Amino acid sequence: MVDPGGRTLIVYCDPDRLEAHLKELSPADGRLIEALCEGVRRFTRFDMSLLAQQPRTLMGPLDWARLGSKLLPHVGPLAQWGLLSARAFGARFKDPLLRRAVPQMFAWPEILMMAALSLLAYTYTGNAGFPAGASLEFSRSIERHYRELGGQIHYKSEVERILTHTDGGGVGRQWAAEVRLYSDDEHRADYVISAADGRGTVFDLLDGRFVNRGIKRLYDGHLPVYSQVQISLGVDRDLSAEPHWVTYLLDRPLTIAGDERYEIGVKNYCFDPSLAPAGKSAVIAMLTAHYHYWQRIYGHRLYDTEQSQVSGIIIDFLANLYPGLRAQIEVVDEAMPLRYERYTGNWLGSSCGWLLTTQTMPMMIRGMSKTLPGLHNLFMAGQWVEPGGTVPMVCALRPQCDPVNLPSGRAPVRDDQELEYLDIMRAALGDAGLAHFHELCRVL
Ligand SMILES: Cc1cc2nc3c(=O)[nH]c(=O)nc-3n(C[C@H](O)[C@H](O)[C@H](O)COP(=O)(O)OP(=O)(O)OC[C@H]3O[C@@H](n4cnc5c(N)ncnc54)[C@H](O)[C@@H]3O)c2cc1C
Repeated sequence: MVDPGGRTLIVYCDPDRLEAHLKELSPADGRLIEALCEGVRRFTRFDMSLLAQQPRTLMGPLDWARLGSKLLPHVGPLAQWGLLSARAFGARFKDPLLRRAVPQMFAWPEILMMAALSLLAYTYTGNAGFPAGASLEFSRSIERHYRELGGQIHYKSEVERILTHTDGGGVGRQWAAEVRLYSDDEHRADYVISAADGRGTVFDLLDGRFVNRGIKRLYDGHLPVYSQVQISLGVDRDLSAEPHWVTYLLDRPLTIAGDERYEIGVKNYCFDPSLAPAGKSAVIAMLTAHYHYWQRIYGHRLYDTEQSQVSGIIIDFLANLYPGLRAQIEVVDEAMPLRYERYTGNWLGSSCGWLLTTQTMPMMIRGMSKTLPGLHNLFMAGQWVEPGGTVPMVCALRPQCDPVNLPSGRAPVRDDQELEYLDIMRAALGDAGLAHFHELCRVL
């Protein structure tokens, strides 16, 4: 991260190295820096997938007690970082570079420090990284494995409707029984598991017939969703000596798609030779975007003009940094939120469902239902059944969507059972342990 005066913060994932570097930049922020780096160390020992191993809406008192005892050693860091955003944490620094850079360190300022520190910690331990060949190779390896296990995949088979049947001559329970494709082919199903867009599943594929107030509220637009613009360039220049990701902090903003931008992040993928021919580089800039800004002009010539304007501003910016680059650009690709929506079906072009923020953290802790009220044998999976999205989260949620773990018709846990679990925790942990646990509950 580079400020307008050229001061540079390097975000090392090694907490010792990060601590030494940050202290060099700002000795006056020593205590905050130590807390930050200690947070990274603590999260190297925390397995976030613990939170996703069982559907919490179906957990009974003993399940909660088991989860509680596994979380207990981590109550301190969870309480300290679980409800603190990078923006709020960054504001505590005295040093002007750190005040500006810390909120941007993890790409968006509303990210919870718990998620941010885990990201650094898992990168440090080798538990997180970049898949060689990027998302395409990653998907292909899953496809290969699935086919080896006997699975079949039907590409280009967009579902138009999930069809339901009713028991007892139309008066009994409703079942998800078939899917109808846009080709009008219909496929019978023992279970229907939708890993497609949450809103589309509930309100389009099922016509909004199986909802309650809570579900309607989830999709009324009040929760934070991240829509983005990505400008990608293929350049005839070797940028492998440059850092793979630099965020430039600007004095004077660039106005892009109606917003003043004081930060521009630029990545190059030279570390993966499969992504560009030798001697060339793939470069991207990714920006937050307002879906409705683009939706208003979709289908008009203005849309194309606006897209080219955005890439033009980014290219001007890069050409300033890398003289001669403009003439070396061989490919320009502009992806706006509507493109993400068109390709993935995701509501508002969201890249990860609802963002994990202080507002949505309680949804994650309480867990969200993977079923719909009044409909049996329909399960929802993917980035719309817990806030935060991302590939690890979606994968960690997999067991929750397994029909074996979700016997249809099992009643969700009642409020009095949730209270009972605290009694069990007291018996298991004693009052001191429970006090620690209350601290965690306060975070929840
Ligand atoms: C540019 C970008 C960069 C990202 N970078 C990262 C990253 O570095 N690390 C990370 O962990 N996460 C990253 N994410 C987030 C991550 O990709 C998502 O959270 C994750 O892919 C969500 O998985 P999913 O299975 O829920 O949904 P998706 O991956 O969106 O898959 C949904 C699938 O359903 C299909 N579908 C939709 N409607 C229908 C229908 N009616 N019928 C049939 N099929 C349908 C779609 O075609 C799509 O294939 C990124 C996302 C984006 C957009």
